Amino acid sequence: MKREGLILIISAPSGAGKTSLCNELLQRFPAMRESVSYTTRPPRAGEVDGQDYFFVSRPEFERMVAEDAFAEWAEVHGNLYGTALHTLEDARRNGIDLVLDIDCQGAMILKERLDGGVFVFILPPTMEELRHRLESRSSDAREVIERRIVRAADEIKECRWYDYIVINDRFEDAAEELSAIVLAHRRRTSRMLEQVAKLFDI
Ligand code: GDP
Ligand code: ADP
Ligand code: 5GP
Repeated sequence: MKREGLILIISAPSGAGKTSLCNELLQRFPAMRESVSYTTRPPRAGEVDGQDYFFVSRPEFERMVAEDAFAEWAEVHGNLYGTALHTLEDARRNGIDLVLDIDCQGAMILKERLDGGVFVFILPPTMEELRHRLESRSSDAREVIERRIVRAADEIKECRWYDYIVINDRFEDAAEELSAIVLAHRRRTSRMLEQVAKLFDI
């Protein structure tokens, strides 16, 4: 039997740097994979179906909900997003380490349903810096930015029940800290015993 894959769940207020940090993590750990969510949001320019998301219609998404196909799902900014059960099961079975970039509501559901998931919350250094990053990303309209900042204040309160908190001030430092969390979890005794049993007669 292969060792079980690690499941890393990452949440953050929009603009905290979650996407940038996840991409960096995938660069540093080439064997790691990102979970591809289902969403009813229309694709943005450049997004590829099956790669960024599985883009589905609302009735299709609702059918999957009725069939219990999701490990979790949530409504975020008026669109539905969900992680398919098969994504988690396939990764676990094949020993693949998986990163999930999901919102706090979905993460809370997995915290209750999933054994052994590692939950990380990414924070910006200050609210001023969060606003600055949202403005400099220049992908959102003024009122969208205001809405995200109001929502961020609520989301930040959720950080208390995560396993780890990383403050994304200097990007390199935050990436190091996130990598350290992955490396430490790969060395947990429960994940090492099978390998040790092969090396030594225990
Ligand atoms: P972003 O704010 O630029 O990262 O925009 P996205 O459209 O990529 O993500 C929108 C929100 O949906 C974020 O809060 C994600 O964490 C969340 N999200 C993405 N996939 C999932 C998922 O499978 N399940 C849940 N519960 N949330 C998700
Ligand atoms: P999220 O996915 O959480 O919405 P992004 O990864 O898109 O966030 O980051 C938001 C913006 O902030 C992007 O323009 C990104 O380049 C920038 N950014 C991310 N981390 C840092 C950092 N440590 N210092 C400065 N800018 C950052
Ligand atoms: P976007 O539409 O900008 O790609 O994503 C918006 C938000 O949806 C992000 O905060 C992202 O983390 C969240 N999100 C993406 N996929 C999922 C998912 O499968 N489940 C949940 N709960 N949230 C998701």
